Amino acid sequence: MLTGNVALVTGGARGIGRATAEILLEHGASVLITDVLEDVGATTADELGERARFVRHDVTDEGSWDDAVTACRREFGRLDILVNNAGIFELGFLVDTSVEQFDRLVAVNQRGCFLGMRAVVPAMTEAGGGAIVNLSSAAGLTGTPGYFAYGMSKWAVRGMTRTAAIELGRHGIRVNAVLPGSIDTDMVQVADTPERRRFFESLPVSRQGQAVDIARAVLYLVSDASSYCTGVELSVDGGVSAGSSLPPREETKLD
Ligand code: NAD
Repeated sequence: MLTGNVALVTGGARGIGRATAEILLEHGASVLITDVLEDVGATTADELGERARFVRHDVTDEGSWDDAVTACRREFGRLDILVNNAGIFELGFLVDTSVEQFDRLVAVNQRGCFLGMRAVVPAMTEAGGGAIVNLSSAAGLTGTPGYFAYGMSKWAVRGMTRTAAIELGRHGIRVNAVLPGSIDTDMVQVADTPERRRFFESLPVSRQGQAVDIARAVLYLVSDASSYCTGVELSVDGGVSAGSSLPPREETKLD
């Protein structure tokens, strides 16, 4: 499905990024995994095999993006796919959010996404087109109390995705977003509570999401299976965004 394609996956050392790198490799792509976690990233690339490589890369840094794209072309000769996956998560209500926390979330989740899309345009144009997938969040779709700065940064990702999709269409570059619900990775351990676990059971798909659930959605959006999709926001959240999960009255239940 992706044989001959080259992908750059940010934050690919672990979690959703690692699962995404894995599925792209399974479908024939070569993958440059980037991350600030050097040891974990290098081990991941080793474990994923010959068509996986790792370079250290800080998505907040403009120069680091130039280096990552150069490394990708050096290792694999081209660049067709970018997955802007690197991100950080911090809890905080509006009144508790410091300027430092706000700026930290902007730098990684928002500026990182902007710099990434901008950095890959020349290489993708040269390759005759490409596909970009940005990781937003269910928290970028509604207000989420306690996620003030994080939610803000993920709303921004949706806005950038739509505008970039329109602007980059003429270069043959499709730009889409995936909006995960809660996925079982290191990132969300900080928010884990018994109430949250009961909440997962109440969802239409009654479980917490796994990294591979998101990786499959990314695979769809970078492959020709989605060749007419751009500017799309694909929720992969077990039904969180479908609406209220209040239980039906007993007599209206189906069984
Ligand atoms: P994770 O913490 O397991 O992985 C994130 C990776 O990004 C880590 O390896 C981390 O080192 C890397 N990273 C952080 N800052 C970086 C930087 N400045 N430069 C390069 N790499 C950096 O988290 P995850 O759950 O796999 O999250 C992946 C993406 O999915 C994130 O954008 C996150 O916001 C989004 N997301 C996750 C969930 C969830 O429930 N896990 C829900 C919605 C959206």
